[in-house]
Amino acid sequence: MAERIEYDILLIGGSPSNLALAHHLVDLAKQSGVSFSMAILEKGKEFGAHILSGAVSKPHVIEKLFPDYKDNGFPYEAVCNQSYFSVLANKSKWDVPAALLPAGLKKEGYLVLTLSHVVYWMANKLKEKLAEAPSVTVDFFPGFSAHEVVYDGDTVVGVQVVEKATGNAEEDNIYGKVTCFGDKGFVSRNLIERFKLRDNPQIWSVGVKEVWELPEGSDYTGKVWHTMGFPLVDGSFGGGFIYGMKDRKLTIGMVISLDSPNPNINPQQRLQDLKKHPWVQSLIQGGKMLKYGAALLPEGGYYSLPKKFSVDGALLLGDALGVLDISQLSGVDKAMECGWQAAEVLHEAIQKSDFSEQKLSSYKERVMNSFVGQNLYEGRYFRQAWQENPRLLNNYLPKVMEGVDAGSAHWGLISVGLTHNPVTAVSDALRLKKLMDGKADIGPVRYIEDYKHIVPNFKTSRAIEVNGFDKDTVYSRADAVFYAGTKYHEENRHIDEFNADVCVKCISTYDTLGKETPCVSDCTAEVHRIDDRGGLRHHGMSLENCVQCRTCEIVCPEVNLKVRPTEEGSGPDFMGL
Ligand SMILES: Cc1cc2nc3c(=O)[nH]c(=O)nc-3n(C[C@H](O)[C@H](O)[C@H](O)COP(=O)(O)OP(=O)(O)OC[C@H]3O[C@@H](n4cnc5c(N)ncnc54)[C@H](O)[C@@H]3O)c2cc1C
Ligand code: SF4
Ligand code: SF4
Repeated sequence: MAERIEYDILLIGGSPSNLALAHHLVDLAKQSGVSFSMAILEKGKEFGAHILSGAVSKPHVIEKLFPDYKDNGFPYEAVCNQSYFSVLANKSKWDVPAALLPAGLKKEGYLVLTLSHVVYWMANKLKEKLAEAPSVTVDFFPGFSAHEVVYDGDTVVGVQVVEKATGNAEEDNIYGKVTCFGDKGFVSRNLIERFKLRDNPQIWSVGVKEVWELPEGSDYTGKVWHTMGFPLVDGSFGGGFIYGMKDRKLTIGMVISLDSPNPNINPQQRLQDLKKHPWVQSLIQGGKMLKYGAALLPEGGYYSLPKKFSVDGALLLGDALGVLDISQLSGVDKAMECGWQAAEVLHEAIQKSDFSEQKLSSYKERVMNSFVGQNLYEGRYFRQAWQENPRLLNNYLPKVMEGVDAGSAHWGLISVGLTHNPVTAVSDALRLKKLMDGKADIGPVRYIEDYKHIVPNFKTSRAIEVNGFDKDTVYSRADAVFYAGTKYHEENRHIDEFNADVCVKCISTYDTLGKETPCVSDCTAEVHRIDDRGGLRHHGMSLENCVQCRTCEIVCPEVNLKVRPTEEGSGPDFMGL
């Protein structure tokens, strides 16, 4: 008979937050001599294999964790030497003057990272550190997923590590006196629902990213661009990001909010559109794509935070908690700070052998009193500022784009006032600035789930104009999947479709409107499809393509899908993203 496997601390996800927690806690234990056992479960086949990020990050938490990181092999791609926020029009680009930008969008001095490499390095560095920490044991479990949270009453006591429970708890579960979820919500969303921790739902965006190798002679090392405008002209909120890395590599990506009225966003194809822009073409022509992938970003920020950050026997960290600040596109440093603060709390909890909610409650105070809470508070109305006023994206942005293409962004700004009511335009601009700077106080914000924004018969009168591009630089969604390196075990069934009849009805609705269902159009990896069986159109899935981004689950208007973690390290290979 199998024995019960129990650790003092169980970390779910080999994530930046959990690895920061592990490093800091081992450092504290080295000083105090406190002893504990820890296990880290990571669903990717290796640490980093399921991690995808931009990523440009302020190095302040990395400096705390690894004071000598620059001489210690820490894998950074570049230090940002110039950052731009640019409006892309059909033909041209306008770099918004730095004086007009909020401080959070100025990235000079920040690190350009490949986050999968960072967590891989952090896991290996932790193994090295353990040689000097005899009071601590850490077991690493790449390729192991937590499938369910295990409770004893209302106390979290561990996780189920098999997809289907056998009924023998000792075989099915790994136990922890405290379980720390840095899993982007993959299983901790069940815990949040069980304890009704969120009054306001989390809202999401999806990020799609490619890494390119540029031809000899190209060098954009340390250059960072964030863009708005082309090709997102349908009123969806989002934009592009382009980061220059060492060795002639370039990151190109888009982040698109899923609170869009458009049921057919198709993020992977929007990224291909971005690459058709003449300026982007000038960067990538003659290069080759190395990697592709996609992942979600929690955008709700301050007003989507759970009421509690801990319950009896468990803590939430990073994106699972929802501390990403979308106003600055910064989640990495905030996730790591969660880990740092959690380590401080757990160091004391271990010594008192007390992992109750009460003992762990100081974690929330610590996070909210740190720069994390401060940034989230300042950016608390950022999404609301764009959600509440459709004129910003539907009317004003296209006017500015017209001005940019006509050679004068300033004329574009003036023409916003001329073609719309100038008083309204000025008051809209002032309110936008006040909300984005966190200077207005409009009380708590209520979000609704992203799919509730979908308008099935959505129409837009605007289309992008494409002025010639190299066909070798764009990829169909089916071809892009190859660059995500997906590989699945046999009998993989990691997406549940709850009710086939609901899908049949949904397909019929969208067929009538001449549109694709949201799952088919917005999947980032050619998984969902419609099968015609004897005239009846059914929903089908090619699960072997899935990159585990969970976009389909968020946009399904009938809440008819659930993406679960895979087994045996199956899924994409995001190393290098
Ligand atoms: C396209 C894109 C661009 C971004 N750009 C930036 C940027 O420029 N700067 C910035 O600061 N932030 C950026 N972010 C946000 C940033 O990447 C995240 O906020 C950050 O990675 C969150 O860290 P985390 O610790 O919550 O863990 P995550 O990065 O969410 O990692 C979760 C880990 O847990 C694992 N896991 C999940 N479920 C399970 C399970 N059930 N069992 C075992 N393991 C599991 C996953 O495989 C993964 O390894 C970007 C994100 C995206 C998607
Ligand atoms: S999964 Fe959702 S979006 Fe897709 S067909 Fe079914 S109900 Fe429609
Ligand atoms: S099936 Fe869902 S989770 Fe998988 S790649 Fe498509 S959208 Fe992402």
